[in-house]
Amino acid sequence: MYAPPVQRLITELGKLPGIGQRTAQRLAFHILRTDAEDALGLADAIREVKERIRLCEVCFNLADEPRCRICQDERRDTELICVVEEPGDVIPMERTHEYRGRYHVLGGALSPIDGVDPEDLKIAELYARVDAGGVREVVLATNPTTTGEATALHIAAALRERSPDVAVTRLASGLPVGADLEYADEVTLGKALVGRRAL
Ligand SMILES: [Zn+2]
Repeated sequence: MYAPPVQRLITELGKLPGIGQRTAQRLAFHILRTDAEDALGLADAIREVKERIRLCEVCFNLADEPRCRICQDERRDTELICVVEEPGDVIPMERTHEYRGRYHVLGGALSPIDGVDPEDLKIAELYARVDAGGVREVVLATNPTTTGEATALHIAAALRERSPDVAVTRLASGLPVGADLEYADEVTLGKALVGRRAL
């Protein structure tokens, strides 16, 4: 129906989450109308993140250096590790201004049905960080969803066994059940963090 380059753009845009066929078409026509500088700026931004952004070697947050900014920040409490599912979950936690420790990004949540097993996540890397010592508390801030809860329980059980001296806590309730952390407002999330309970 369209010239192949236009069809290709629509197909690529349609692969984005939440973008259906109609929206993909609308965005493609918007890009076609946009002047070259803006359109190529978008293409360049995509290329740059793919070339420059990697995962932090310590916590697996996004980084443009071997270590992310949070792991490089000497003022952060190194004895506290907050475990989240995705790099996008670090931002809402930071926005609460209640948390001064470091993070560990799992890269997802356990979901046997979808074939996501412990080896598919950065769980062994978390245990290695805790085993290395100097950790006082692990805050499990996975999403309050079925898979997020299952992941928190799995990690809590393993840590109790491996590192009985380390406190393992979970964000307090008050978070909307079934919702992702990134959609929680910072006041609710901040209260959930302050009221975290032992697991
Ligand atoms: Zn890091």
